[in-house]
Amino acid sequence: MVVQKFGGTSVADPQAIRRLIDIVQRARTSAGRGPAVVVSAMNKVTDGLLAIAADASEGRTEDALARLQGIRERHHAAARDLAPAEAAALIAGIDGELDGLAAVAQALGVLREASPRTLDVVAATGELLSSRVVAAALRQAGVPAVWVDARKAIVTDDQHTRAVPLAAETETALRTHVLREIEAGHVPVLGGFVGATVDGHTTTLGRGGSDYSGALVGAGIGASEIQIWTDVDGMLTADPRIVQNPRVVPRLSFAEAAELAYFGAKVLHPSTILPAVERDIPVRILNSRNAEAPGTLITATGAADGGPMTALACKREVTVVDITSSRMLMAHGFLRRVFEVFDRYRTAVDVVTTSEVSVSVTIDERRHLDAIVAALSEFGSVEVEHDLSLLCAVGDRLPREPEVAARAVRVLEEFPLKMISQAASRRNITVVLPQADLAKAMHRLHEEFFA
Ligand code: ADP
Ligand code: ASP
Ligand code: MG
Repeated sequence: MVVQKFGGTSVADPQAIRRLIDIVQRARTSAGRGPAVVVSAMNKVTDGLLAIAADASEGRTEDALARLQGIRERHHAAARDLAPAEAAALIAGIDGELDGLAAVAQALGVLREASPRTLDVVAATGELLSSRVVAAALRQAGVPAVWVDARKAIVTDDQHTRAVPLAAETETALRTHVLREIEAGHVPVLGGFVGATVDGHTTTLGRGGSDYSGALVGAGIGASEIQIWTDVDGMLTADPRIVQNPRVVPRLSFAEAAELAYFGAKVLHPSTILPAVERDIPVRILNSRNAEAPGTLITATGAADGGPMTALACKREVTVVDITSSRMLMAHGFLRRVFEVFDRYRTAVDVVTTSEVSVSVTIDERRHLDAIVAALSEFGSVEVEHDLSLLCAVGDRLPREPEVAARAVRVLEEFPLKMISQAASRRNITVVLPQADLAKAMHRLHEEFFA
Protein backbone atom coordinates (compact mmCIF):
# COMPACT_ATOMS: atom_id res chain seq x y z
CA MET A 1 0.00 0.00 0.00
CA VAL A 2 1.47 3.32 -1.06
CA VAL A 3 0.71 6.99 -0.61
CA GLN A 4 0.92 9.11 -3.73
CA LYS A 5 1.28 12.86 -3.33
CA PHE A 6 0.79 14.99 -6.44
CA GLY A 7 2.11 18.55 -6.54
CA GLY A 8 0.54 21.61 -8.15
CA THR A 9 1.78 21.02 -11.68
CA SER A 10 0.66 17.38 -11.48
CA VAL A 11 -2.97 18.52 -10.97
CA ALA A 12 -2.73 21.77 -12.95
CA ASP A 13 -5.31 20.95 -15.65
CA PRO A 14 -7.38 18.06 -17.06
CA GLN A 15 -4.42 16.74 -19.01
CA ALA A 16 -2.29 16.54 -15.87
CA ILE A 17 -5.13 14.96 -13.90
CA ARG A 18 -5.52 12.30 -16.61
CA ARG A 19 -1.87 11.41 -16.11
CA LEU A 20 -2.53 11.25 -12.37
CA ILE A 21 -5.44 8.84 -12.93
CA ASP A 22 -3.16 6.59 -14.92
CA ILE A 23 -0.52 6.62 -12.21
CA VAL A 24 -3.08 5.88 -9.48
CA GLN A 25 -4.62 3.03 -11.46
CA ARG A 26 -1.25 1.43 -11.97
CA ALA A 27 -0.43 1.64 -8.26
CA ARG A 28 -3.81 0.14 -7.40
CA THR A 29 -3.31 -2.74 -9.80
CA SER A 30 0.13 -3.56 -8.54
CA ALA A 31 -0.66 -3.31 -4.79
CA GLY A 32 -4.18 -4.74 -5.01
CA ARG A 33 -5.57 -1.90 -2.89
CA GLY A 34 -5.25 1.80 -2.20
CA PRO A 35 -3.38 3.96 -2.89
CA ALA A 36 -4.03 6.92 -0.60
CA VAL A 37 -3.87 10.06 -2.74
CA VAL A 38 -2.79 13.47 -1.44
CA VAL A 39 -3.00 16.46 -3.78
CA SER A 40 -1.77 20.04 -3.81
CA ALA A 41 -3.87 22.90 -5.05
CA MET A 42 -3.81 23.35 -8.82
CA ASN A 43 -0.61 25.10 -9.87
CA LYS A 44 -0.53 28.79 -8.78
CA VAL A 45 -3.90 28.64 -7.02
CA THR A 46 -2.41 29.10 -3.54
CA ASP A 47 -0.55 32.21 -4.76
CA GLY A 48 -3.84 33.46 -6.23
CA LEU A 49 -5.71 32.83 -2.97
CA LEU A 50 -3.13 34.70 -0.92
CA ALA A 51 -3.33 37.54 -3.44
CA ILE A 52 -7.10 37.56 -2.92
CA ALA A 53 -6.56 37.98 0.83
CA ALA A 54 -4.01 40.74 0.24
CA ASP A 55 -6.18 42.57 -2.29
CA ALA A 56 -9.27 42.31 -0.14
CA SER A 57 -7.61 43.45 3.06
CA GLU A 58 -6.07 46.40 1.26
CA GLY A 59 -9.44 47.50 -0.05
CA ARG A 60 -9.17 46.18 -3.62
CA THR A 61 -12.28 44.06 -3.32
CA GLU A 62 -13.00 44.15 -7.07
CA ASP A 63 -9.58 42.73 -7.88
CA ALA A 64 -10.03 40.06 -5.24
CA LEU A 65 -13.39 38.99 -6.65
CA ALA A 66 -12.02 38.97 -10.20
CA ARG A 67 -9.24 36.63 -9.14
CA LEU A 68 -11.73 34.46 -7.35
CA GLN A 69 -13.80 34.23 -10.52
CA GLY A 70 -10.73 33.04 -12.43
CA ILE A 71 -10.17 30.27 -9.89
CA ARG A 72 -13.86 29.33 -10.07
CA GLU A 73 -13.79 29.03 -13.87
CA ARG A 74 -10.66 26.96 -13.86
CA HIS A 75 -12.18 24.42 -11.46
CA HIS A 76 -15.54 24.38 -13.23
CA ALA A 77 -13.81 23.65 -16.53
CA ALA A 78 -11.83 20.80 -15.00
CA ALA A 79 -14.98 19.42 -13.35
CA ARG A 80 -16.95 19.41 -16.62
CA ASP A 81 -14.10 17.90 -18.57
CA LEU A 82 -13.09 15.19 -16.11
CA ALA A 83 -16.30 14.25 -14.33
CA PRO A 84 -19.27 14.98 -16.59
CA ALA A 85 -21.42 12.37 -14.87
CA GLU A 86 -21.29 14.16 -11.53
CA ALA A 87 -20.42 17.66 -12.75
CA ALA A 88 -23.52 19.29 -11.27
CA ALA A 89 -22.86 18.06 -7.73
CA LEU A 90 -19.14 18.72 -8.05
CA ILE A 91 -19.68 22.27 -9.28
CA ALA A 92 -22.13 22.86 -6.44
CA GLY A 93 -19.43 21.74 -4.01
CA ILE A 94 -16.84 24.01 -5.64
CA ASP A 95 -19.25 26.94 -5.55
CA GLY A 96 -20.01 26.25 -1.90
CA GLU A 97 -16.33 26.67 -1.04
CA LEU A 98 -15.86 29.71 -3.26
CA ASP A 99 -19.01 31.50 -2.13
CA GLY A 100 -17.70 31.14 1.41
CA LEU A 101 -14.41 32.58 0.24
CA ALA A 102 -16.14 35.52 -1.45
CA ALA A 103 -17.86 36.29 1.84
CA VAL A 104 -14.50 36.20 3.61
CA ALA A 105 -13.03 38.55 0.98
CA GLN A 106 -15.89 41.00 1.52
CA ALA A 107 -15.33 40.87 5.26
CA LEU A 108 -11.59 41.46 4.81
CA GLY A 109 -12.44 44.53 2.76
CA VAL A 110 -14.33 45.91 5.73
CA LEU A 111 -11.83 44.87 8.39
CA ARG A 112 -8.81 45.89 6.29
CA GLU A 113 -6.78 43.21 7.99
CA ALA A 114 -6.19 39.52 7.46
CA SER A 115 -5.35 37.55 10.60
CA PRO A 116 -3.25 34.38 10.26
CA ARG A 117 -6.36 32.39 11.12
CA THR A 118 -8.29 33.95 8.25
CA LEU A 119 -5.35 33.53 5.89
CA ASP A 120 -5.46 29.82 6.60
CA VAL A 121 -9.15 29.58 5.76
CA VAL A 122 -8.40 31.33 2.47
CA ALA A 123 -5.23 29.41 1.59
CA ALA A 124 -6.77 26.02 2.40
CA THR A 125 -9.41 26.49 -0.29
CA GLY A 126 -7.01 25.46 -3.07
CA GLU A 127 -6.43 21.96 -1.75
CA LEU A 128 -10.06 21.52 -0.72
CA LEU A 129 -11.10 22.26 -4.32
CA SER A 130 -8.44 20.27 -6.15
CA SER A 131 -9.01 17.20 -4.00
CA ARG A 132 -12.76 17.23 -4.77
CA VAL A 133 -12.05 17.49 -8.48
CA VAL A 134 -9.45 14.71 -8.43
CA ALA A 135 -11.70 12.38 -6.41
CA ALA A 136 -14.55 12.89 -8.89
CA ALA A 137 -12.22 12.45 -11.88
CA LEU A 138 -10.99 9.16 -10.47
CA ARG A 139 -14.54 7.94 -9.93
CA GLN A 140 -15.41 8.88 -13.50
CA ALA A 141 -12.49 6.70 -14.60
CA GLY A 142 -13.85 3.77 -12.60
CA VAL A 143 -11.63 4.09 -9.54
CA PRO A 144 -13.62 3.87 -6.26
CA ALA A 145 -12.30 7.17 -4.90
CA VAL A 146 -13.72 8.95 -1.87
CA TRP A 147 -13.03 12.54 -0.90
CA VAL A 148 -11.60 12.89 2.59
CA ASP A 149 -11.73 16.24 4.36
CA ALA A 150 -8.11 17.00 5.32
CA ARG A 151 -9.44 19.14 8.19
CA LYS A 152 -10.60 15.91 9.81
CA ALA A 153 -7.52 13.86 8.97
CA ILE A 154 -4.63 16.13 10.03
CA VAL A 155 -4.84 17.58 13.55
CA THR A 156 -2.48 20.45 14.32
CA ASP A 157 -1.63 23.05 16.93
CA ASP A 158 -2.85 26.62 16.43
CA GLN A 159 0.23 28.23 14.89
CA HIS A 160 -1.71 29.45 11.91
CA THR A 161 0.07 29.55 8.53
CA ARG A 162 2.73 27.17 9.84
CA ALA A 163 0.88 24.78 12.06
CA VAL A 164 2.56 21.74 13.56
CA PRO A 165 0.71 18.41 13.41
CA LEU A 166 -0.13 16.74 16.72
CA ALA A 167 1.28 13.24 16.37
CA ALA A 168 -1.10 11.09 18.41
CA GLU A 169 -4.29 12.92 17.36
CA THR A 170 -3.31 12.86 13.71
CA GLU A 171 -2.49 9.18 13.79
CA THR A 172 -5.89 8.35 15.25
CA ALA A 173 -7.63 10.61 12.74
CA LEU A 174 -5.74 9.09 9.81
CA ARG A 175 -6.69 5.62 10.89
CA THR A 176 -10.34 6.59 11.06
CA HIS A 177 -10.60 8.68 7.94
CA VAL A 178 -7.96 7.27 5.58
CA LEU A 179 -6.93 3.75 6.56
CA ARG A 180 -10.54 2.60 7.00
CA GLU A 181 -11.38 3.75 3.50
CA ILE A 182 -8.52 1.75 2.08
CA GLU A 183 -9.61 -1.29 4.06
CA ALA A 184 -13.10 -0.82 2.65
CA GLY A 185 -11.61 -1.05 -0.85
CA HIS A 186 -11.66 2.67 -1.60
CA VAL A 187 -9.07 5.20 -2.77
CA PRO A 188 -9.10 8.08 -0.27
CA VAL A 189 -8.23 11.45 -1.82
CA LEU A 190 -7.38 14.39 0.40
CA GLY A 191 -5.89 17.82 0.05
CA GLY A 192 -2.36 18.29 1.33
CA PHE A 193 -1.14 21.38 3.20
CA VAL A 194 -4.38 21.59 5.19
CA GLY A 195 -5.35 20.55 8.69
CA ALA A 196 -7.38 21.82 11.61
CA THR A 197 -6.91 22.42 15.29
CA VAL A 198 -8.58 20.24 17.91
CA ASP A 199 -11.27 22.94 18.04
CA GLY A 200 -11.87 22.64 14.31
CA HIS A 201 -10.19 25.83 13.09
CA THR A 202 -8.63 25.38 9.65
CA THR A 203 -4.81 25.50 9.59
CA THR A 204 -2.07 25.11 7.00
CA LEU A 205 1.36 23.53 7.33
CA GLY A 206 3.41 26.26 5.63
CA ARG A 207 4.11 26.80 1.93
CA GLY A 208 4.97 23.62 0.11
CA GLY A 209 3.40 21.65 2.96
CA SER A 210 1.57 19.08 0.84
CA ASP A 211 4.71 16.94 0.78
CA TYR A 212 4.57 16.91 4.56
CA SER A 213 0.90 15.86 4.47
CA GLY A 214 1.83 13.03 2.11
CA ALA A 215 4.47 11.80 4.53
CA LEU A 216 2.14 12.14 7.53
CA VAL A 217 -0.48 10.06 5.77
CA GLY A 218 2.17 7.50 4.84
CA ALA A 219 3.33 7.18 8.43
CA GLY A 220 -0.21 7.24 9.82
CA ILE A 221 -1.47 4.36 7.70
CA GLY A 222 1.78 2.38 7.72
CA ALA A 223 2.38 2.70 3.98
CA SER A 224 5.13 0.71 2.30
CA GLU A 225 6.23 3.73 0.26
CA ILE A 226 5.59 7.48 0.06
CA GLN A 227 5.67 8.76 -3.50
CA ILE A 228 6.13 12.46 -4.23
CA TRP A 229 4.98 13.06 -7.82
CA THR A 230 6.28 16.35 -9.19
CA ASP A 231 7.55 18.06 -12.36
CA VAL A 232 11.20 16.98 -12.34
CA ASP A 233 12.79 13.53 -12.62
CA GLY A 234 13.80 13.38 -8.96
CA MET A 235 16.18 15.11 -6.59
CA LEU A 236 18.69 16.84 -8.86
CA THR A 237 22.34 17.55 -8.20
CA ALA A 238 21.58 21.30 -8.19
CA ASP A 239 18.65 23.68 -8.37
CA PRO A 240 17.52 23.40 -12.01
CA ARG A 241 16.48 27.05 -11.98
CA ILE A 242 20.19 27.90 -11.63
CA VAL A 243 22.16 25.05 -13.18
CA GLN A 244 20.90 24.02 -16.63
CA ASN A 245 22.14 20.44 -16.70
CA PRO A 246 21.79 18.93 -13.24
CA ARG A 247 21.67 15.15 -12.95
CA VAL A 248 19.14 13.02 -11.15
CA VAL A 249 20.40 11.59 -7.87
CA PRO A 250 19.18 7.98 -7.98
CA ARG A 251 19.53 7.26 -4.25
CA LEU A 252 19.67 9.40 -1.14
CA SER A 253 19.80 8.68 2.55
CA PHE A 254 17.11 10.18 4.79
CA ALA A 255 19.80 12.34 6.36
CA GLU A 256 20.99 13.70 3.02
CA ALA A 257 17.45 14.37 1.83
CA ALA A 258 16.59 16.15 5.06
CA GLU A 259 19.61 18.43 4.74
CA LEU A 260 18.93 19.21 1.08
CA ALA A 261 15.28 19.99 1.78
CA TYR A 262 16.17 22.11 4.78
CA PHE A 263 18.73 24.08 2.82
CA GLY A 264 16.43 24.90 -0.06
CA ALA A 265 15.86 21.98 -2.44
CA LYS A 266 12.23 22.93 -3.03
CA VAL A 267 11.30 19.56 -4.45
CA LEU A 268 10.81 18.36 -0.84
CA HIS A 269 9.28 20.33 2.01
CA PRO A 270 11.80 20.27 4.89
CA SER A 271 9.49 18.35 7.23
CA THR A 272 8.71 15.58 4.76
CA ILE A 273 11.42 13.19 5.78
CA LEU A 274 10.63 13.13 9.51
CA PRO A 275 7.52 10.92 9.47
CA ALA A 276 9.23 8.63 6.97
CA VAL A 277 12.29 8.24 9.20
CA GLU A 278 10.18 7.45 12.25
CA ARG A 279 8.53 4.52 10.47
CA ASP A 280 11.43 3.74 8.13
CA ILE A 281 9.24 4.20 5.05
CA PRO A 282 11.04 4.73 1.73
CA VAL A 283 10.25 7.98 -0.07
CA ARG A 284 10.39 8.17 -3.85
CA ILE A 285 10.44 11.38 -5.88
CA LEU A 286 8.91 10.83 -9.31
CA ASN A 287 7.96 12.85 -12.38
CA SER A 288 4.26 12.75 -13.29
CA ARG A 289 5.11 13.82 -16.85
CA ASN A 290 7.69 11.07 -17.18
CA ALA A 291 6.22 8.31 -15.06
CA GLU A 292 8.55 5.64 -16.39
CA ALA A 293 11.70 7.37 -15.12
CA PRO A 294 13.11 5.70 -12.00
CA GLY A 295 13.18 8.90 -9.93
CA THR A 296 15.02 9.25 -6.64
CA LEU A 297 14.70 6.65 -3.90
CA ILE A 298 15.27 7.90 -0.35
CA THR A 299 15.94 5.32 2.35
CA ALA A 300 17.81 5.06 5.65
CA THR A 301 21.01 3.89 3.99
CA GLY A 302 21.09 5.83 0.73
CA ALA A 303 23.62 5.04 -1.96
CA ALA A 304 26.45 2.66 -1.25
CA ASP A 305 28.63 3.87 -4.08
CA GLY A 306 27.77 7.53 -4.68
CA GLY A 307 30.25 10.19 -5.69
CA PRO A 308 32.14 12.41 -3.22
CA MET A 309 29.24 14.86 -3.17
CA THR A 310 25.56 13.98 -3.43
CA ALA A 311 23.84 17.25 -4.34
CA LEU A 312 23.77 21.01 -3.83
CA ALA A 313 20.99 23.21 -2.51
CA CYS A 314 20.54 26.92 -1.97
CA LYS A 315 18.33 29.39 -0.20
CA ARG A 316 17.90 33.01 -1.25
CA GLU A 317 16.84 36.02 0.78
CA VAL A 318 18.88 35.03 3.78
CA THR A 319 19.64 37.57 6.50
CA VAL A 320 22.68 37.45 8.76
CA VAL A 321 22.44 38.81 12.29
CA ASP A 322 25.78 39.46 13.90
CA ILE A 323 26.09 40.10 17.64
CA THR A 324 29.38 41.35 19.03
CA SER A 325 29.92 41.63 22.75
CA SER A 326 32.98 41.68 24.95
CA ARG A 327 30.74 40.16 27.58
CA MET A 328 30.78 36.98 25.55
CA LEU A 329 34.44 36.48 26.33
CA MET A 330 34.82 33.57 28.78
CA ALA A 331 31.19 33.93 29.81
CA HIS A 332 28.85 31.02 29.95
CA GLY A 333 25.16 31.44 29.30
CA PHE A 334 25.70 34.05 26.62
CA LEU A 335 24.64 31.89 23.70
CA ARG A 336 21.68 30.64 25.66
CA ARG A 337 20.41 34.18 26.08
CA VAL A 338 21.00 34.95 22.42
CA PHE A 339 19.06 31.90 21.28
CA GLU A 340 16.29 32.58 23.76
CA VAL A 341 15.58 35.75 21.81
CA PHE A 342 15.13 33.84 18.55
CA ASP A 343 13.06 31.29 20.38
CA ARG A 344 10.81 33.95 21.89
CA TYR A 345 10.00 35.23 18.39
CA ARG A 346 9.66 31.73 16.95
CA THR A 347 12.31 32.46 14.38
CA ALA A 348 14.38 29.55 13.15
CA VAL A 349 18.13 29.96 12.92
CA ASP A 350 19.76 28.05 10.07
CA VAL A 351 23.51 28.52 10.33
CA VAL A 352 25.56 29.66 13.31
CA THR A 353 29.19 30.61 13.61
CA THR A 354 30.92 32.01 16.66
CA SER A 355 34.22 33.64 17.46
CA GLU A 356 35.70 34.85 20.71
CA VAL A 357 33.46 37.89 20.99
CA SER A 358 30.82 37.48 18.34
CA VAL A 359 28.14 35.19 17.10
CA SER A 360 26.61 35.26 13.62
CA VAL A 361 23.40 33.53 12.71
CA THR A 362 21.32 33.30 9.55
CA ILE A 363 17.55 33.53 9.44
CA ASP A 364 15.09 33.61 6.57
CA GLU A 365 11.97 34.60 8.47
CA ARG A 366 12.12 38.34 8.95
CA ARG A 367 8.72 39.20 10.32
CA HIS A 368 10.04 39.78 13.85
CA LEU A 369 13.47 41.08 12.87
CA ASP A 370 13.07 44.53 14.41
CA ALA A 371 11.98 43.12 17.74
CA ILE A 372 14.79 40.57 17.67
CA VAL A 373 17.41 43.24 16.98
CA ALA A 374 16.03 45.38 19.79
CA ALA A 375 16.21 42.48 22.24
CA LEU A 376 19.71 41.43 21.15
CA SER A 377 21.00 44.99 21.45
CA GLU A 378 20.88 44.53 25.21
CA PHE A 379 23.79 42.09 24.94
CA GLY A 380 26.05 43.99 22.57
CA SER A 381 26.23 45.65 19.19
CA VAL A 382 24.06 44.08 16.53
CA GLU A 383 24.52 44.26 12.78
CA VAL A 384 22.11 42.99 10.18
CA GLU A 385 22.96 42.17 6.60
CA HIS A 386 20.42 41.34 3.91
CA ASP A 387 20.57 40.07 0.32
CA LEU A 388 22.64 37.06 1.17
CA SER A 389 22.17 33.49 0.17
CA LEU A 390 23.09 30.17 1.55
CA LEU A 391 24.75 27.51 -0.57
CA CYS A 392 24.97 24.02 0.77
CA ALA A 393 26.76 20.91 -0.47
CA VAL A 394 25.58 17.60 0.95
CA GLY A 395 27.09 14.15 0.91
CA ASP A 396 27.26 11.19 3.28
CA ARG A 397 30.94 10.77 2.39
CA LEU A 398 31.92 14.21 3.69
CA PRO A 399 32.60 13.00 7.25
CA ARG A 400 35.03 10.35 6.08
CA GLU A 401 36.75 12.42 3.40
CA PRO A 402 37.76 15.84 4.70
CA GLU A 403 39.49 16.52 1.39
CA VAL A 404 36.07 16.87 -0.22
CA ALA A 405 35.13 19.81 2.02
CA ALA A 406 38.51 21.43 1.37
CA ARG A 407 37.93 21.09 -2.37
CA ALA A 408 34.51 22.74 -2.05
CA VAL A 409 35.91 25.75 -0.22
CA ARG A 410 38.83 25.99 -2.65
CA VAL A 411 36.58 26.24 -5.73
CA LEU A 412 34.75 29.08 -4.01
CA GLU A 413 37.89 31.06 -3.26
CA GLU A 414 36.97 33.96 -5.56
CA PHE A 415 33.75 34.66 -3.63
CA PRO A 416 33.50 36.69 -0.41
CA LEU A 417 32.19 34.02 1.94
CA LYS A 418 30.47 35.61 4.94
CA MET A 419 30.18 32.37 6.86
CA ILE A 420 31.40 28.80 6.44
CA SER A 421 29.91 26.01 8.46
CA GLN A 422 30.31 22.30 8.64
CA ALA A 423 27.85 20.63 10.96
CA ALA A 424 28.77 18.05 13.57
CA SER A 425 27.36 15.39 11.29
CA ARG A 426 29.72 16.93 8.73
CA ARG A 427 27.33 15.65 6.13
CA ASN A 428 27.06 19.14 4.69
CA ILE A 429 29.25 22.11 4.12
CA THR A 430 27.39 25.39 4.00
CA VAL A 431 28.55 28.85 2.98
CA VAL A 432 26.81 32.21 3.13
CA LEU A 433 27.59 34.61 0.32
CA PRO A 434 26.12 37.65 -1.45
CA GLN A 435 23.03 36.80 -3.44
CA ALA A 436 24.62 38.32 -6.54
CA ASP A 437 27.28 35.60 -6.45
CA LEU A 438 25.00 32.66 -5.83
CA ALA A 439 24.43 31.44 -9.39
CA LYS A 440 28.09 31.61 -10.32
CA ALA A 441 29.15 29.88 -7.12
CA MET A 442 26.64 27.09 -7.58
CA HIS A 443 27.87 26.56 -11.14
CA ARG A 444 31.45 26.36 -9.91
CA LEU A 445 30.62 23.75 -7.30
CA HIS A 446 28.52 21.79 -9.74
CA GLU A 447 31.28 21.73 -12.32
CA GLU A 448 33.78 20.61 -9.73
CA PHE A 449 31.77 17.70 -8.38
CA PHE A 450 29.27 16.66 -11.03
CA ALA A 451 30.66 17.58 -14.45
P1 ADP B 1 5.36 20.47 -6.49
O1 ADP B 1 4.35 21.49 -6.89
O2 ADP B 1 5.25 19.19 -7.27
O3 ADP B 1 5.42 20.26 -5.02
P2 ADP B 1 7.66 22.19 -6.32
O4 ADP B 1 7.66 23.34 -7.25
O5 ADP B 1 7.30 22.43 -4.92
O6 ADP B 1 6.75 21.05 -6.98
O7 ADP B 1 9.09 21.46 -6.35
C1 ADP B 1 9.63 21.04 -7.58
C2 ADP B 1 10.62 22.06 -8.05
O8 ADP B 1 11.69 22.13 -7.15
C3 ADP B 1 11.28 21.76 -9.37
O9 ADP B 1 10.50 22.16 -10.45
C4 ADP B 1 12.60 22.53 -9.26
O10 ADP B 1 12.53 23.75 -9.93
C5 ADP B 1 12.76 22.81 -7.79
N1 ADP B 1 14.04 22.35 -7.23
C6 ADP B 1 14.90 23.11 -6.52
N2 ADP B 1 15.97 22.41 -6.17
C7 ADP B 1 15.81 21.15 -6.67
C8 ADP B 1 16.60 19.98 -6.66
N3 ADP B 1 17.79 19.91 -6.04
N4 ADP B 1 16.10 18.88 -7.27
C9 ADP B 1 14.91 18.92 -7.89
N5 ADP B 1 14.14 20.01 -7.95
C10 ADP B 1 14.57 21.12 -7.35
N1 ASP C 1 -0.46 24.59 -2.31
C1 ASP C 1 0.48 24.84 -1.23
C2 ASP C 1 1.55 25.82 -1.69
O1 ASP C 1 1.52 26.27 -2.83
C3 ASP C 1 1.10 23.58 -0.70
C4 ASP C 1 1.85 22.73 -1.69
O2 ASP C 1 1.64 22.85 -2.89
O3 ASP C 1 2.65 21.90 -1.25
O4 ASP C 1 2.38 26.20 -0.92
MG1 MG D 1 6.23 21.42 -3.45
